[in-house]
Amino acid sequence: MSGIYLHIPFCKQACHYCDFHFSTRLKHLEPVLGAMHQELRDRSGEVQGEVATIYFGGGTPSLLKADQIGAFISAIRKQYTVKDNAEITLEANPDDLDESRIQAWKQVGINRLSLGIQSFEEEELRWMNRAHNQQQAHSALALMAQHFDNYSIDLIYGIPGSSPEQWEATLNTALGYNPPHISAYALTVEENTALEHMIQTGKSPDVSDTRAEDDFKILMQRLDEARYQHYEISNFARDGYYSKNNSSYWLGKPYLGIGPSAHSYDGRTRRWNVRNNIKYTRALDQGESYFETETLTDRDRYNEAVMTGLRTQWGVSYHRIREEIGPKYENYLKMQAESYIRKGWLFEDEERLFTARAAKFLADGIASDLFMLNLE
Ligand code: SF4
Repeated sequence: MSGIYLHIPFCKQACHYCDFHFSTRLKHLEPVLGAMHQELRDRSGEVQGEVATIYFGGGTPSLLKADQIGAFISAIRKQYTVKDNAEITLEANPDDLDESRIQAWKQVGINRLSLGIQSFEEEELRWMNRAHNQQQAHSALALMAQHFDNYSIDLIYGIPGSSPEQWEATLNTALGYNPPHISAYALTVEENTALEHMIQTGKSPDVSDTRAEDDFKILMQRLDEARYQHYEISNFARDGYYSKNNSSYWLGKPYLGIGPSAHSYDGRTRRWNVRNNIKYTRALDQGESYFETETLTDRDRYNEAVMTGLRTQWGVSYHRIREEIGPKYENYLKMQAESYIRKGWLFEDEERLFTARAAKFLADGIASDLFMLNLE
């Protein structure tokens, strides 16, 4: 089974921290969507088996009209075999939600929404340069909860200048709506973003790892008390509401990425499309190349399995490493993990290696210590 990801590379305005690929020049929207349809047609032979998830990400897919979203879903249904109960998610921003759009999205086949709330604090939303305000965050969430059973909200923690009490208040506000799924990400400073510039020029305090770790502890504790399952470092869900799309990535399933900057994976090869709307559109139009590929070595596949596995509740499967990559990788993993198991940061059963609750914030760093660097 596979997933299809559609990257809609447009936003109304640039959030200060964002390094995703997007443009605010909406006049290029129609040509880019046309080129994406072309890419979908060209690549229909690449998907083996049924499509289990369709995900509209970005950028801001909720900028699209419902019939533009519907046209993609119809095209995928026509050109690919889509599973009966496929999960079809639309990322949406609060300022794009109203009753009629929500109804129209449902009618064209969207059955899951992921809402980019990020914060309920007016000051924080302004600091991030989000396009929505506090009141829109509340009204969009209330509307979404009324119309969708399956939805998620995104939140950001570790915001400079905010306090742990503010973060806890944000979580409590979110929990008041009883969302079935919550994604919460530590704010990071990416290269060439407005945030990096603001910090370098003294217009903003720097982000703090200690502060992020404190917020992460609050996050784990509050969502544990509220009985959410912490199934991936940044993701929490009620039973039955895990994101099927994201879970497939973490479990190493293949996916097709359509649109500028979108990545694809077929189990052996990674491919990424050019991160430029005009180059992407022109190349599709003129039949030129618009992507690069990389065939993963066994070592790459081992490192990825360790990195993603230690972030999830499913852990790293010794069986998968042994059967799909090779016994020497399983032995190496067990040897490297020993000292962390002794410290209580990792634990194992017969078939899997897991990150202990107390070490979850450190999972990425631990994983990189278990990577295989030069042994091939
Ligand atoms: S809306 Fe999303 S993709 Fe667009 S700038 Fe903000 S964070 Fe980035």
